[in-house]
Amino acid sequence: MKTKNSEQLFEKSKHHIAGGVNSPVRAFKSVGGSPIFFKKSRGCYLYDEDGNKYLDFVGSWGPMVLGHSNEKVISAIRAQAGKGISFGAPTKNELEIAKLIKSYIPSIEKLRMVNSGTEATMSCIRLARGTTGKNKIIKFIGCYHGHVDSLLVKAGSGLATLGVPDSPGIPEELSKLTLTLPYNDIDSVKKAFEKYGDDIAAIIVEPIAGNMGFIEPDLEFLQYLRDVTSQNNSILIFDEVMTGFRVARGGVQELTGIEADLTALGKIVGGGLPVGVYGGKASIMNNISPDGPVYQAGTLSGNPIAVSAGTALLKQLKDKTLYEKLEANAYLFLTMIGEYCKKENIPFSYSARGGMFGFFFSETLPKNFDDVTNSNIEMFSLFFKGMLERNIYLPPSAYESCFISSQHDENKIRKAAKTAIEVLKDIKDEV
Ligand SMILES: *Cc1c(COP(=O)(O)O)cnc(C)c1O
Repeated sequence: MKTKNSEQLFEKSKHHIAGGVNSPVRAFKSVGGSPIFFKKSRGCYLYDEDGNKYLDFVGSWGPMVLGHSNEKVISAIRAQAGKGISFGAPTKNELEIAKLIKSYIPSIEKLRMVNSGTEATMSCIRLARGTTGKNKIIKFIGCYHGHVDSLLVKAGSGLATLGVPDSPGIPEELSKLTLTLPYNDIDSVKKAFEKYGDDIAAIIVEPIAGNMGFIEPDLEFLQYLRDVTSQNNSILIFDEVMTGFRVARGGVQELTGIEADLTALGKIVGGGLPVGVYGGKASIMNNISPDGPVYQAGTLSGNPIAVSAGTALLKQLKDKTLYEKLEANAYLFLTMIGEYCKKENIPFSYSARGGMFGFFFSETLPKNFDDVTNSNIEMFSLFFKGMLERNIYLPPSAYESCFISSQHDENKIRKAAKTAIEVLKDIKDEV
């Protein structure tokens, strides 16, 4: 397969765009090779600058749950563009999307629109601190909440150690306020509350983790987070930027029945345009300016075109059976590969929820970040390259989730699984 044009574009971009890309994972650093530059997308396919066509399992990292270039989303964008692009003033459409979001995720009583998932989580953290008067935040290792200063923090060693920054440019004074704990580990949360309980403003968690690969929580773990925050006057923040409208229409909250105080949304909610949303209990949201003292604002927040795209997509998610179909097709893909791996003694584990799925070259399903690190990452990279050469586009990192859309029908899935088995045949003796 020829990818010369993509390679040349990347070389040129490096002179003008930092790292040649506008978001780091796009640079293919963790799998090696040069990123593909795309120019068109339709249904479940992406088309690159060299004329290649790929079956896409990234879906723009989530938004394309009904496939690329959805007709209703495109018409809504066109119609709104004809009426006006931005007013910097309220519109009726914002009211409509707010009601729609609330009807899908009932724990949200009031909300605010912003321009990215990062802005949504950042605003949740400020609001939690402003509401409780407390300073510390608990997050979990391997959960990604956008590039917010307080949330780009990993643990030192040991339980409930005060965080050290993940990136230069984040003052230690700030990262010290973030406690980072292992995912799915109730005991470490218990200890953190014993030690710092008076000063913990919030727990923020991906209630199904999608940014260290696809990792499901133990139900008892999520329930414990709910209980311990309620008992200590802390706020429970579910970061459903990835899982919202993706694992189920109402996100993880619908799947588990466990409700957050505040929820962050992004990705699907903008229909592929840059939108974030945060919302939750009215008693907390009333603390936001102009009703309350916690400041948060945005020049382009609730932008009419972005809102029209998000509304057009969300309206098409009314039928919940969509998520059963997505999950069935994801499992079809995974079990076909899984059966081959079992026969050949290749360690392989997998799971799926709605339109999101993950697999690991490991005997058992990882429960946390360390487990993922112990899976065969090198094998993932070879698998990724083999799939790419055969026109299947997977996320370019073992630490990402895969996404499936309603346009990935059973035939395409079976064909993709057969291709995956061919790739595994080629690489199984290399690692
Ligand atoms: C993508 C993502 C974010 C960040 O959203 P951006 O729109 O990239 O800022 C935050 N949290 C989770 C769980 C995400 O998957």
